[in-house]
Amino acid sequence: MAARASDAAEAAFLRLGIDDAAAQRLRSAQREVTVQLPIVGDDGQLRVLTGFRVQHSDVRGPFKGGLRFHPTVDLDDVRRLAELMTWKTALVDLPFGGAKGGVAVDPRTLSPRERELVARRYIEAIGPALGPRTDIPAPDMGTDATTMGHLLDAYSRIHGFEPRIVTGKPIELGGSLGRTVATGRGAVVALETTLDHLGRTLPAQGGDVTLAVQGFGNVGQNAALEAHVRGHRVVAVSDASGGWHDPDGLDIPVLERALADHADLADLTVPGARPIAPEDPLFVDADVVLPAALGRVVDAGNVDRVVAPLIVEGANEPLTEDACAVLEARGTTIVPDILANAGGVIVSYYEWVQGANLLTWDEAEVLARLDARIAAATRQVLRAAGEGGSLRDAAMDLAVRRVVRAMELRGTA
Ligand code: NAD
Repeated sequence: MAARASDAAEAAFLRLGIDDAAAQRLRSAQREVTVQLPIVGDDGQLRVLTGFRVQHSDVRGPFKGGLRFHPTVDLDDVRRLAELMTWKTALVDLPFGGAKGGVAVDPRTLSPRERELVARRYIEAIGPALGPRTDIPAPDMGTDATTMGHLLDAYSRIHGFEPRIVTGKPIELGGSLGRTVATGRGAVVALETTLDHLGRTLPAQGGDVTLAVQGFGNVGQNAALEAHVRGHRVVAVSDASGGWHDPDGLDIPVLERALADHADLADLTVPGARPIAPEDPLFVDADVVLPAALGRVVDAGNVDRVVAPLIVEGANEPLTEDACAVLEARGTTIVPDILANAGGVIVSYYEWVQGANLLTWDEAEVLARLDARIAAATRQVLRAAGEGGSLRDAAMDLAVRRVVRAMELRGTA
């Protein structure tokens, strides 16, 4: 079967009249690697895991993208997410390309030692395709700063100390202040910029905005907290175990503190709130829904249950193309993933810049730069979309134009 880019990118190629040779280069990845990762578990048994790295495009700079540990990871999944990174880095104008990695494993079934082994085996197997000016991984679902520390160590044992090989690493190893909160915060900045453009009064000016968040991990928790701090009313949150709904607003800092002693939201007691199912925040009556868990949680089968007029895609691809078409036809505003969750890769870039220049910026400087870049990109997308236009199409067109222009400028001989 002929290679095909995502539906959203193919539609942009058509809208923009991108010539077929250029489109062809973006329809498949520049490199795909599938590897075996043999791990001797704590029980002494050998397990052979499968790992992937897909390097979609590096025409604008080194490949850049997260590494995910999740049981459903497969090559198609990683391909789609790698392509998405190409558009994301281009849209927020970072000098990076797009890549993604994954290991098909449920990290909750691994001990800390086993998780470290997976990270080390991954570098040993994929390392030759990585490098601080070639391909730079970062955390994603199921991985975190600790995983990045292990990747850094495994790479540095072969190549000499090289902190720029990963971003999202611990501060003590050259990580950037502000990286942990970056994606969630960026989503809220994109949200506020959009609300302002739509003529809504923001909470800081006395307005009342209600928000429901699905997923209470890195993105969901930080988005909920940032929204709460800025005065938005977070009426529903959930994780894989379940969640809570309170139309008067949940006290997010209290929930977060309680979670320190419990693994799951469903284990908490939240006075005044009603327990809900993991998918329920997508369907509650709120001004804004922010999906921040898995991809494809809203599809043709359940899109009719979504009532919020504004959706901010905190997760990657939380809405299927079919669902987006239904929602946009209905007048729902969708702030697309390549914009809404770009905060993480933006601060990853700042981390890489600090590492390359032996600089350390304080948190306020990192966050101010993050806010300015996300707000500017959001305003650019809103302007390009025009009155009532699709933000998804406008964002994709801007990103595709930049990548194709870089390809032209680099020449083809
Ligand atoms: P995470 O592993 O920290 O958190 C995921 C959360 O989703 C957890 O709370 C989990 O319980 C919850 N969840 C899982 N299945 C669920 C379900 N069926 N219903 C409700 N909740 C469910 O992951 P993360 O880093 O927060 O990433 C979340 C999403 O955001 C992913 O799509 C990821 O690719 C994307 N993303 C993350 C970053 C980042 O910087 N972390 C950046 C860009 C995009």
